Amino acid sequence: MQVPLLDLTLQYREVADDVMDALRGVVEEQRFILGPVVDRFEEEMAGKLGVRHAVGCASGTDALLLAVRALGVEKGEEVVTSPFTFFATAGAIHNAGARPVFADIEPDTFNLDPAAAEAAVTGRTRAVMPVHLFGQMADMRAFRALGDRRGFAVIEDAAQAVGARQRDGDGWITTGTLGDACCFSFFPTKNLGAFGDAGMIVTNDDGVAERLRKLRVHGGRQMYHHEEVGFNSRLDALQAAVLSAKLPYLDRWSEARRRNAAFYDEALAGVEGITPPVVRPGNESIVNQYTLRVLDGRRDALGEFLKERGVGSSVYYPVPLDRQECFAYLGYRPGQFPESERASREVLSLPIFPELTEGQLAHVAESVKGFF
Ligand SMILES: *Cc1c(COP(=O)(O)O)cnc(C)c1O
Repeated sequence: MQVPLLDLTLQYREVADDVMDALRGVVEEQRFILGPVVDRFEEEMAGKLGVRHAVGCASGTDALLLAVRALGVEKGEEVVTSPFTFFATAGAIHNAGARPVFADIEPDTFNLDPAAAEAAVTGRTRAVMPVHLFGQMADMRAFRALGDRRGFAVIEDAAQAVGARQRDGDGWITTGTLGDACCFSFFPTKNLGAFGDAGMIVTNDDGVAERLRKLRVHGGRQMYHHEEVGFNSRLDALQAAVLSAKLPYLDRWSEARRRNAAFYDEALAGVEGITPPVVRPGNESIVNQYTLRVLDGRRDALGEFLKERGVGSSVYYPVPLDRQECFAYLGYRPGQFPESERASREVLSLPIFPELTEGQLAHVAESVKGFF
């Protein structure tokens, strides 16, 4: 039996009619840059998340870059973030002219540890950037409190967590509720995926929203009048059409991922040698990845074993960002972020996409058990 890590053709079959109609609409109008289709998707996302503003842009990476700039982080100022994340998190901070400062992660959720983040704050810190890794929100109340206490911005990297929620008293908070800006990616492998690159920033701050709308069109409110040097980073109207058509399906897809995760949790409970992913009480993950820890240095061997049985798996992420050659200038030494390094040695993500059949899920679980 073959179980790929991800098969997007199955999702496409479900949405093909809706998506192709939406694409045809854009092509017939020939309005490809911003315009009504982009406006509509921005309104839909703002409504879904309960935030005042949503600003589409070209990718999740650009969303982070634009957010750092829009929040007024200046050259040489510092943004505290996780070393255990996709490269873009710190790459965007660097490209905005700021300095990435790393702090270690919490071993259960793999998310940035608020206490470690606070310990990394200096007089030059202008923002903290928690990442909602693998679909589970970081401890946003703690990061909001930290930002308020120290007087700097909270920028959420929610590239993997669109629609994730967290209990707050009797209600819920979601991505974008507490951050000064919250960044999404619609890269095809995310829970809400475009047909190419696309991204978005949401914010409740009118001034930040206005600056973002300027920055994505070369830094000018009015054509040919530039108050600052911005970027060319718009959400493509064709991608907005795809995303609008898919948005009504998103919660069902995330629910199916949670069901698949529950299947694995039960099937793999008690297997010696692995730790299944932990979702903290009060968190509702969208399970962008289902990521095990494999103990005793056997991670790569398990990956090979699964491959022989037709099961796809992948390591997110094998090299912490403080260990990347391009960040040698930051001067970190091996061993400074032990939890991040341990995670990079132990993690293995299994197939979790919504369309997996029960037979496939059982085959994956049996294969993992078979290895041990
Ligand atoms: C995917 C991702 C990004 C970058 O998004 P792109 O749309 O690929 O540019 C940033 N941060 C995290 C955590 C991601 O997973």
